[in-house]
Amino acid sequence: MASVEYRAKSMLLTELVSGMALTLKYFFRPKVTINYPYEKGPISPRFRGEHALRRYPNGEERCIACKLCEAICPAQAITIEAEPRDDGSRRTTRYDIDMTKCIYCGFCQEACPVDAIVEGPNFEFATETREELFYNKDKLLANGDRWEVEISRNLTADAPYR
Ligand code: SF4
Ligand code: SF4
Repeated sequence: MASVEYRAKSMLLTELVSGMALTLKYFFRPKVTINYPYEKGPISPRFRGEHALRRYPNGEERCIACKLCEAICPAQAITIEAEPRDDGSRRTTRYDIDMTKCIYCGFCQEACPVDAIVEGPNFEFATETREELFYNKDKLLANGDRWEVEISRNLTADAPYR
């Protein structure tokens, strides 16, 4: 009996017809795919992307070289050296992140008392060499300058939940 049913289905092409009907059903619906990289989907304010070091609006670095981020990093990806400035303030002389070690846990951002180190919204930072993923302070500050508007907006949006 099963064999007869199978042969009937084969002859009447029912599976082919039902497949075509399904295609036709979705043909006129709004497309769920986007034309990346020209179109991009929304990302959460909590998205943990490429790291950045932020500045205050007057241009001064936020980081006070407390090294909490370095201490809490489970991947030991952060290396900081610091010394006092002439005005007595404490600032980093070296702030490196080995992005090949980073696991994007966000602990550094959570530990920072002044919102200096953050994981920004940028996820398009693939490189061709490992060396390009050894970030230094200049690179991190440049990231902060580039993404400050988006980072600030995301921190504000997430603030009520922290
Ligand atoms: S996101 Fe996590 S692993 Fe990456 S640098 Fe920060 S603390 Fe370390
Ligand atoms: S980035 Fe934040 S946690 Fe890390 S050393 Fe600077 S002030 Fe401290």
